[in-house]
Amino acid sequence: MTSVLDNIRASLVGLKMPRALEALDHTMQRIEQGEITAIEAIDALLSEEFTNRETRRVTMALMTAKLLPVKTIESFDFSFQPSLDKSRIMALAQLDFVRRAETVHFLGPPGTGKSHLATALGVACVKAGKSVYRATLAELIEALLKAEREGRLVEKLRFYTRAALLIVDEIGYLPISNGGANLFFQLVNARYEKGAMILTSNRGFAEWGEVFGDPVVATALLDRLLHHAVVVQIEGASYRLRHHTDLIPEHIRANAPISPPPPPKRRGRPAKKEATINPYG
Ligand code: ADP
Ligand code: MG
Repeated sequence: MTSVLDNIRASLVGLKMPRALEALDHTMQRIEQGEITAIEAIDALLSEEFTNRETRRVTMALMTAKLLPVKTIESFDFSFQPSLDKSRIMALAQLDFVRRAETVHFLGPPGTGKSHLATALGVACVKAGKSVYRATLAELIEALLKAEREGRLVEKLRFYTRAALLIVDEIGYLPISNGGANLFFQLVNARYEKGAMILTSNRGFAEWGEVFGDPVVATALLDRLLHHAVVVQIEGASYRLRHHTDLIPEHIRANAPISPPPPPKRRGRPAKKEATINPYG
């Protein structure tokens, strides 16, 4: 004769709920000890299983989305970038721009946290159960060129169009071939008003003709990418070089591609909350 407990075990196995099965004996003991009620026990078992599955889902989704190492809004030190309005970033983290299929641009010199913030918004999106994919512009174009050579372009474009949020990192660092620029345009056009994008660049929009090697394609790209867009410009010092500003020659510091160099009082300013910063947190 099978007991109720054996029945529960069989059901948990059949339903593929290993965490709840593991927690069953301990939960039963807690009921016997009078620590929890029966209804609290049901809650505990289901929560165990749910939390475990949710953690696994998020970990897998972060891997497929190429969002590792994880960055978060919480681990971003806003006091290091006074030009950045924290409330704007917090508003973006509500993810309405994803629902509205809008475009967010992070512009600024190297090391100012563009990729960090883009990744952090991507992570928030994954946690909210939406699909995300992140790549550098160079990776994206290389994959599209390869797919085109192999006759799989339509399939590849469909793959990049499927994610609710596409993050295109590092626009402007590497020169883009003519074919590459055209393929990127096809992708942007396919996603236009259908899916959200986050783009990061160290170059101003006026330089996109140069970046994409063709002013006509650049204009067509910007036409789509600036319609329904939020532009966040970060003007400040590199977080990577925060301890080494004195070692950087003046002419390089002054060559920040978008914005003039930060005012002298901010240069070389050490990060205040060094001990509490965990960039991978
Ligand atoms: P960018 O993409 O603008 O070149 P990143 O976002 O890659 O810069 O930032 C460089 C490194 O510094 C990353 O490890 C990032 O997590 C960290 N970082 C940048 N800005 C901040 C900040 N304000 N607070 C905490 N970490 C930061
Ligand atoms: Mg970057």
